[in-house]
Parts: sequence; structure tokens; C-alpha cells
Amino acid sequence: MGLSEYNRKRNFKVTREPSGEAPAPPRQEGEGLRHFVIQKHAASRLHYDFRLELEGVLKSWSVPKGPSLDTRVKRLAMHVEDHPLAYAEFEGIIPKGEYGGGTVLLWDRGTWEPVGDPHQSYAAGNLKFILKGEKLQGGFALVKLRGRGAHSGKDQERAWLLIKERDSHVVPEETSDVTEARPESVATGRTLDDIAADRSRVWHSNRAQVDAGGAPGARPGPVPAVLRPPRFAARATPPRGGGWLHEMAIAGERLLARSDAGTAQLLDEDGKPLTAAAVRKRGAIADAVRMLPAQTLVVDGMLAAMTPAGHSDDRALPGALAGKLGATLAYFVFDLVHLDGFDLTRVPLDRRKALLAELVRASAEPGALRYLDHIAGDGVAFQHEARRLGIAAMVSRRADSSYGARAGWVRIPCAVSATG
Ligand code: MN
Repeated sequence: MGLSEYNRKRNFKVTREPSGEAPAPPRQEGEGLRHFVIQKHAASRLHYDFRLELEGVLKSWSVPKGPSLDTRVKRLAMHVEDHPLAYAEFEGIIPKGEYGGGTVLLWDRGTWEPVGDPHQSYAAGNLKFILKGEKLQGGFALVKLRGRGAHSGKDQERAWLLIKERDSHVVPEETSDVTEARPESVATGRTLDDIAADRSRVWHSNRAQVDAGGAPGARPGPVPAVLRPPRFAARATPPRGGGWLHEMAIAGERLLARSDAGTAQLLDEDGKPLTAAAVRKRGAIADAVRMLPAQTLVVDGMLAAMTPAGHSDDRALPGALAGKLGATLAYFVFDLVHLDGFDLTRVPLDRRKALLAELVRASAEPGALRYLDHIAGDGVAFQHEARRLGIAAMVSRRADSSYGARAGWVRIPCAVSATG
């Protein structure tokens, strides 16, 4: 099926759903785990979108009544267009008037194992599989409806049934209904109403919870139109003595974000706005920036792909941006340039970071956004500790430095074998 139908139905300038650039390369048999996701979707009619990773996309069925754990209950599942793998992460609002406009909640997710060859079974319209989700476990079948019935014409082609297979995970309908017992998001614990309330929360959080104007050196000013992110000078040894702040260097891409009245813009290391396609791939980051409790702001940081062990890994970044499952994006912010009508570039670094920490802490939805903390004091001691933790490099900045200071922003390798 491919993703052309998916793309045709959506205007990515308006919706925050991921675009389907290209199906991921089909996975080799036995390679890794196949993911599944079920999204509860309050569109014109509430339904559950059941998606199985197969052939490099998410094969998708719209299940009006949602899954059941009772083997006697057969739930209609209308086969719909393939979705990109990145869709498995989507929870949020699809704007009104757009295709599927409404609220999407990540109702369940996990991995699935086909029983038999999944390509053949899918083509034959009889797919049996084991789900290992947070809410759904055990055997299920998706069976294509044949012959004439209530569904005629085009709909008949698309009508399948979702049925629970007999095993220890069966729960009779009289005992409990899993969609009623577990209505919440597996990603955020939110309900559909919580998610739907997001937009209003953005627009009504007008008052800054963080007072930028009180910081020494803060000057009233507009959101800067042009940004020139300062560079870190390479240095072989860490600075000694006091007056410095040390952070671990994040492996990834330099990324700045500018937010103005609910609209977030992302900029590269040269201060140039990212293309619409590049922003879409970083949609969760723009959302998290938008959710910071400020009317206007500019932050500086590093975008990274996180390994399950919690380390940033720049080799995983292209995959994470392409929507591959398994790698998580994180945006580590380390500087605050502007906040709510105040230019903070001349505020000392330690004060800017204190404001930034407060701002991130006050966010109702930090999501992928993380405040990059520092240690004050001697750089050699920090380097020693960084080496012990296997951190490849550190950055040191003078605690009193302005944003854009030519001197006093340095990057130092930590790995013992590092040559520079
Ligand atoms: Mn849907």
C-alpha cells in the first residue's frame, strides 16, 4: 500500500502528525522486535486505531468499539491506509477540519509476534499474532470478512474482524471491559479530555511564572529576529579554579528554539530556521518548547538520540529523526537567551541557567525537553568524574559570561584515548 494515501490525506503545514517520507526498509526475518500501537481517536466518531509494524509501515485498522479480551466478541476492524512508523509515537490534537481531526491518545503499545509467516497471512487475510503490550497480551487474530454481508462495495473489501484467541489472557466481557477499565494513555497517563485541553493551556498561560526582568543585566527587548549561536572553542585541558560551570557535552545537533505566542520555531547552529520537513521530524521538540510557561522565549541546546541506557548517541540520531522506533529524542537546553520581553544575553550565565531551570521545572508538559545541569568548581575534578562515567567530552563556561561571549566557552575531551 505504501504511504502515498496517508500523505495525500494530510496537510502537514497544519497537523502535527508525522509525515510519511518513505517506508522504512523491510525488516529481515528474526531481526529485532515488531512494534504495535493502539491509538484511541476521538474524531467525528470515537474509534481505536490498531496498528501493526509490517513491511516497513504500520498496517492499520480502525476498530470502532476497540479491542476485547473475550473470545466470543468479534470486533469490526476496517482496514485503513498504511501509516509511517513514526506515527506510533503520536499523541495529541489533529486540528479541526483536517483529516481525522480530533484527539489522539496512545492507548496501548508494545511488540507483536506473528504466528506463521506474517506476509503470507496478511495477504491471505488471516493474521494470527501474539501481543505483548501494556494492556493487551496474548493471542489475537485479524480475519478478513468474506462474502456478502452488512458491508457492501468498497467497505466490504476493507472489513476485517479483530478476535481474541483462547489463552490465559482471556477476560470475559461480563467480568471487565479493557477499554472501560483502562481508558488512560500508556505514554502520559492522560485522558482524552486532558489531551484536548492542551491547546487552551498553551494559549491561556500568558503570565510568565519565571521573572526574567528581575535578573541583573536583563534589558527589555523584542524576540531577536536574528540569532548567532556562540561556538565552543576546543581546548585540551579543563579550566582550573573557580568561576566556571561544567556540563557534560551532549553528542547530537545544536538546536535553538524560539517561541512566540504559542508558535515555536527551530533554528540550526548558524541560527537559520529549519525547513518545514526538518521541523516535522522534530515535532515533539517544538511542542515541548511551546509548552514552556512563557509568551516569548529563546533557548539554546543540543538535540540528541538517547539509548535505552540513557546516553546520548549521535549515531542513533538519524534513525531517531527518521522515526525509527527504539531511539528516543531528547532536547537538552543549556541556555536562555530571551524570556517574555527581556533580552538576557548580558545576564551572567549562572543566572540565565537558574531562570532556565525554573522555566523547565514549571512546564506542565516538558516531554522531550531536559534542562542540562552543571557542576560549578574545578574543571579537572569534573573531567575526572566524567571519565569515570564514560562521558566523551565536557563543556565549560565562565559563570559570569554573557551569551555570545567570545572567551570563556570551551569544549574539552574527556575520554582517555581522545586526541582532541
Ligand atoms: Mn483514526
